[in-house]
Amino acid sequence: MKYVYAFDEGRGDMKKLLGGKGANLAEMKRIGLPVPEGFTITTDACNMYYEQNENMGDELISQIKSSLSELENRTGKKLGGKDSPLLVSVRSGAYVSMPGMMDTVLNLGMNDETVKVIAKLSDDERFAMDSYRRFIQMFSDVVLGIEKYNFDNVFDDVKESKGVTQDTELSAEDLKAIIEKYKLIVFEHIQEPFPQDPQKQLLMAVEAVFSSWNNPRAKIYRQANDIAHDLGTAVNIQEMVFGNMGEDSGTGVAFTRNPSTGEKALFGEFLMNAQGEDVVAGIRTPQPVSALEKQNKKVYDEFLSTVNALEKHYKDMQDIEFTIEQGKLFFLQTRTAKRTAASAIRVAVDMVDEGLITKEEAIMRIDPSIIDKLLHPTFDPNALAKAHCITKGLPASPGAASGKVYFYSEDVVRAKNNGEKTILVRMETSPEDIEGMISSEGILTARGGMTSHAAVVARGMGKCCVAGCHDVKVSESEKIFYVGNMLFKEGDEISLDGNTGEVYKGIIPATKVEFSGHFGRLMKWADEIRAMKVRTNADTPKDAKTAVKFGAEGIGLCRTEHMFFEEDRIPIVREMILAKNIEQRQNALDKLLPIQKKDFYDMYLEMGNRPMTVRLLDPPLHEFLPHEAKDIELLASELNMEVKVLEEHIAALEEHNPMLGHRGCRLGITYPEIYQMQCKAIVEAAIDVKEKNGSEIELEIMIPLVGNKKELEILRKLAIKTLEDVFEQGQQILKYKIGTMIEVPRAALTADEIAQSADFFSFGTNDLTQMTLGFSRDDAGKFLPIYKSREIYEKDPFQSLDQTGVGELIKIATKKARNTKSDLKIGICGEHGGDPQSIQFFAKVGFDYISCSPYRVPIARIAAAQAEILSKK
Ligand code: ADP
Ligand code: MG
Ligand code: MG
Repeated sequence: MKYVYAFDEGRGDMKKLLGGKGANLAEMKRIGLPVPEGFTITTDACNMYYEQNENMGDELISQIKSSLSELENRTGKKLGGKDSPLLVSVRSGAYVSMPGMMDTVLNLGMNDETVKVIAKLSDDERFAMDSYRRFIQMFSDVVLGIEKYNFDNVFDDVKESKGVTQDTELSAEDLKAIIEKYKLIVFEHIQEPFPQDPQKQLLMAVEAVFSSWNNPRAKIYRQANDIAHDLGTAVNIQEMVFGNMGEDSGTGVAFTRNPSTGEKALFGEFLMNAQGEDVVAGIRTPQPVSALEKQNKKVYDEFLSTVNALEKHYKDMQDIEFTIEQGKLFFLQTRTAKRTAASAIRVAVDMVDEGLITKEEAIMRIDPSIIDKLLHPTFDPNALAKAHCITKGLPASPGAASGKVYFYSEDVVRAKNNGEKTILVRMETSPEDIEGMISSEGILTARGGMTSHAAVVARGMGKCCVAGCHDVKVSESEKIFYVGNMLFKEGDEISLDGNTGEVYKGIIPATKVEFSGHFGRLMKWADEIRAMKVRTNADTPKDAKTAVKFGAEGIGLCRTEHMFFEEDRIPIVREMILAKNIEQRQNALDKLLPIQKKDFYDMYLEMGNRPMTVRLLDPPLHEFLPHEAKDIELLASELNMEVKVLEEHIAALEEHNPMLGHRGCRLGITYPEIYQMQCKAIVEAAIDVKEKNGSEIELEIMIPLVGNKKELEILRKLAIKTLEDVFEQGQQILKYKIGTMIEVPRAALTADEIAQSADFFSFGTNDLTQMTLGFSRDDAGKFLPIYKSREIYEKDPFQSLDQTGVGELIKIATKKARNTKSDLKIGICGEHGGDPQSIQFFAKVGFDYISCSPYRVPIARIAAAQAEILSKK
C-alpha cells in the first residue's frame, strides 16, 4: 500500500486520503504557486497505525525514509546534514479542517550541531538560536508531553530580567541561555537528554501527530461538529521557510474576503520577523495585511494577485497562511474559509454576480442550519442606549450576548448545567477552552486579533465574541478582571456586542435581526428553484405575520386547541366539556362560536389570499380541566357545582394513556356539535373577511387522527353539511377542501381507502413517529439520549425523520393514496417539516408542500430548493 505521496503526486480532490491541508498543498503546487517542497503521509497510514495498536510498522517507516531522501535530493539539503541541513515542519491535517485541534512541530531537524551550521549559513546567530529554542519548546510540548508553560515561564523570566517586552529584543546570547535552561527542563521530565538524532525526531513527531487525532480536545471538537472519529489525520512533512529571518521576513494569515461580513476585501494580519503560531497566539499585536504594501510593495502585489487567483481557482473564499523569507513569498496553506452565516450568504450572492458560480451552486453552498444563526440576536436599541459601555475590543464574531462572567471552561460548563447564561472571559483562548466556548453565550478575550483562536472558533460556532480587548486586565487564577479601576468577579454580569466589539456592564435584552438584502436575493432564487411549497404552523395572527415575513406561502397547520386555552374562554370551554346534556353543551358552544369566529377572522385577515389549513379540535378534553385542588374549588363555585361532583366528573375523563385515548376525530364522532361549531366559525369568518377585503379564500378543513376511512366519511359529511347550511343562509359560496392528517399507522396502511374521502393529506409526523416507534414523545427523554449515544437511533427521531421506519410508512401511504387520486395534495406539518434532512426525503417522496414553525420557514425554503437541485443531478 502506498502510504506516502510527494506534494506533486497529489491533487485538491484527494482530501479524504491526504487530508485537507495535504490535498490543498498539492493543488497549490500543481497550479504553480510558491509552496515549499514536501510530502504527505496518508490518513490510511494513521488508521493503520491505530489498527496495529499504535504501531507505525516497517513498511510505513521505510516509505517515509525513501520520501525523505527524495525531498533531500530535491532541496539539495539533508536532515541533520553538516553542510546544508534540511529543516522541516511536521503538520497534522485531517479530511475536515479542525483549526488548532491537533499538533504541528516546526524547525524539526535542529540539534546542537545543526544550529551552529545554520547560524553560519544564515550569518545570523540570533535567528538560528531563536529557531532552535522554538523547536525544543514545540517538540517537547507536542511529542514529549512536557507542558508549554514550563518553557514559557523560563522565557518570560529571561525577558523580565533583561528588561525587554518583545521577543525580538532578546539577543543570541540570551537565547543560548534559554536553550540550556530548556534542555534542563526536558531532562528533568524525561530523564534523558533532548533527542539529537533528526531521523528519530521525525518519526517521533509523525507518531505524535497520529496520536493527536485522539487527544481530548480533538475528540470534543469532533463531537460538537458531527465529524466521524474514524477519518484519521494525514501528516505533512514540509521544508521550512523562515519568517523569523530578520525584518524582511514575516508570517501571516489572510482571508480573501471578510469572514464576518462577507465584504469583498482582503482581510488578514501579519507579523514581521515572526514564525508560525506567533500571529494567532496573540503574543504580539499583528498588523493588517494592507500594511504589507508599505513594508514591501513587490511582495504585496504578488500576494494580492496570487490570492485572487487562488479564489478564482477554488471558486470560494479562502483562508490562507503565508510566510515571507527574506523578501520571498511562500504559501503554506489554503482552505475554504470558515465564515459567519451573514458572510456565507453575502459571499455566495456576490460570487453569482461576479460570474464565478451559478445560483444553484450558491444555494447548495448554504448549510440551511446557519440560517438560524442569521437571525442572530442584536441588543434592543432602547436598552442599549441606556447601557453602560465599559470598554471596546475587536468585533471578532457577531451577535449579542449577556451572561455571568466565568474564567475557566469547566466553570462555564458547570454554570450552564445549573441553568445560568455565561460569558467566558480569558486572557486568550486555546483549544483547551473548547468546551467552555461551546457552553457559553459569548467569549471575551484580552489578547489576540481578528484571526486569533477565539475569533476563528467563535465565528465557526456562530457565537458572539469580542477579542483583543486590551483594557481588560484578567487574572484567571484569581477569577477577576479589571477595566480601569472597575472590578468584575466570577458571577458578575456583562454583555458583549459582537458586531461592534463593545463590552457593557450588566444584562441587556436582545432582539432578533431582520433579513438583509443579500439574504433576500438568495431566498428569492431558492423560491424560483424549489418545487415544494413552504407553509407554516401558526395558531395566532402574530405567528402568522412573522411566518409571512419569513416567506411562508400559507398556513399548513392552524391548531385550534391553543385558542381554547385563552383566559377569556377557558371557563366556557369547561362548561362545554362538563355539560350534563346536549342542551347545556349546545348552550356553551353557542357562546364559544363568536369567539372562535373572531379567532379565524383575525387569522384570515392576516393571511390575505394565502391558504390556511385549520385542524379541528385534537387533544383529549381533560387537558382543559383543572387538576389542582384550589382550581377545582374555584371552578366548582363558578359552575355552581359541588366540589365532589366536579371531582368525580374530572376523574371520569381521566385516561390511562391519553395519547391513544379519547381525542382527535374520536371527539368529532362522539361530540359532533363541537366540530360543527368549529366549521361554522371557520366559514362565517371567511365570508366576513371576503366581504371586507375581497380575499378569495378557499377553506381547508383538516380532520385529525383518522385511522379508518369511515371516521373520515362521517366527519366529512358533517363538515360539508355545516358549510352548505351557512352558504345557503348567507347566499355566499366559498370553495372548500376537506382533508385529513395521516398520523395513525393504520391510516398510512389504508391510505388508498382514506384518500377516497380526502381532498388532501397532511402527515402528522409527530404522532406518526410516536405510534410507529411506540415511543411517547413526553417520556422518551429518559432513554433517547442513551439510544442516541449507542446509535440505536442515530438522531432524535422526533427532530429528524426516521426514514427507514416512519419514512417507509410515508412512502407506502403516498403511493396508495396517489393510486386512488393521482393529484391528491400531500404535505407534512410535523416538527420534521423544518428539518433539512427530512425535507430532502419529503421532496423525494413527491410531497407538494411542507409546513413548519415560523422561524424555520427560511431554512425550509433553502432546503426545499436544495432538494430540487439534487433531484436534477
Ligand atoms: P494548524 O493546522 O494548526 O494551522 P499548521 O500545520 O498550518 O497548523 O502550522 C501552523 C503554522 O506553522 C503555519 O501557519 C505556518 O505559519 C507555520 N508553518 C508550518 N509549516 C511551515 C513551514 N514548512 N515553513 C514555515 N512555516 C511553517
Ligand atoms: Mg494552519
Ligand atoms: Mg397529531
